[in-house]
Amino acid sequence: MAALSTDRMTTWLLQAADDLEQAKTMLTELDTPIGDSDHGVNMARGFAAVRDKLRAAPPADVGSLLKTVAMTLISTVGGASGPLYGTFFLQASTKATGKTSLTLAEWTECFEAGLTGLMARGKAQPGEKTMVDALAPALEALKAAAAQPLEQALAAAAAAAAQGMVATIPLQARKGRASYLGERSIGHQDPGATSSHLLLRRLAEPAG
Ligand code: ADP
Ligand code: MG
Repeated sequence: MAALSTDRMTTWLLQAADDLEQAKTMLTELDTPIGDSDHGVNMARGFAAVRDKLRAAPPADVGSLLKTVAMTLISTVGGASGPLYGTFFLQASTKATGKTSLTLAEWTECFEAGLTGLMARGKAQPGEKTMVDALAPALEALKAAAAQPLEQALAAAAAAAAQGMVATIPLQARKGRASYLGERSIGHQDPGATSSHLLLRRLAEPAG
């Protein structure tokens, strides 16, 4: 069965850095009505630093790759999203220690550990208009696709994240800066759910 090699995972994160650079304005515009207009800048800066680290010293296994991403995001991204994505990648890395590739089951385990850590750190549950609303459906989709080929499962996870992202529009924010707006947060797509979808879409479409 196909697996996620260290090379594939490295390529994913390098391409994600380009995606986030291109999406910088869009993500920052989403963060304007319900935030402080910095999500695009935060993500682009964090992943540009990730790209520099990975190019300078390509990690030898997926565990050290994910750990490098985590430490870099934590140290370079101001704002809520840095520690939250950092926690995701750090907890995910603990399930990939020493592994040079991940099966679908192993990636699902990493993803679950990452999401559990992120939710604990942010004290967030699904339905609160955060990145969790894209990531939690993606995890469910990965689990539901356990018997399917890897690429199909990754595509299902990206599709679930897209749905979860759009489904944040009618929600009232309960966590983060957007929650300060109360009912006025309704009617806007969450920026963090949008960056989460971008990341998962790129993992599913390495060449796209
Ligand atoms: P900040 O809110 O500090 O300016 P960003 O703009 O980079 O940070 O990120 C905002 C995004 O972070 C939100 O759109 C939301 O998805 C996510 N977020 C904020 N607080 C939380 C939380 N407690 N739990 C999960 N996600 C959160
Ligand atoms: Mg912000």
